[in-house]
Amino acid sequence: MDQEIQLNEHNKTEHPPMHTAEHLLNGTMVKMIGCKRSRNAHIERKKSKCDYPLPQPLSDDQIKEIENTINNVIAQNLEITFEFIPAEEAATKYDLERLPDDATEMLRIVHIGDYDACPCVGAHVEHTSQIGHFRISSARYQDGMQRIVFRLDQ
Ligand SMILES: [Zn+2]
Repeated sequence: MDQEIQLNEHNKTEHPPMHTAEHLLNGTMVKMIGCKRSRNAHIERKKSKCDYPLPQPLSDDQIKEIENTINNVIAQNLEITFEFIPAEEAATKYDLERLPDDATEMLRIVHIGDYDACPCVGAHVEHTSQIGHFRISSARYQDGMQRIVFRLDQ
C-alpha cells in the first residue's frame, strides 16, 4: 500500500467493528433490496442506525434475511483489504455521492472479501469474524425512510 497518498481526514471516530458492520449492511441493502448505500448513518459502539429511502417498508422476512445474510458473511471470516484508485476511475465503479466535494485525487477502496467494496477512509476490522454477531434490534418506516437499528453481540 502506498503510504504517501494523502487522504481526506475522516470526520468520524467509529468503532471499527460497528463501522465495518455498516459496510456489510449497506452492501446487503444494495444487493438484496436494490437501494443505495445509506447517506444518513449514526454509528456508535453500542447501537447504530442507518436510514434508507425506500418506497415501502421492509417486511419482517426481509429484515430476517438481511440479518442472516450479514451473519453468514461474518462467519466466512472475509479479509478487509484496501486499494487506491484514481477518483475518475472510482466514479465509474462506485457511488461517490457520499464523498465530500474536496475528495482527494486518489480514493481508498475498502474491500470486504469479494462481497462488498466502497470508497472509505474510516477504521475497519481486519477480518469479518472480529465484528461479532450482527443483530437488527429495531426497524422503523416513516415518510419513505426505512431506519434500521443494529447492535453487535460478542
Ligand atoms: Zn469504512
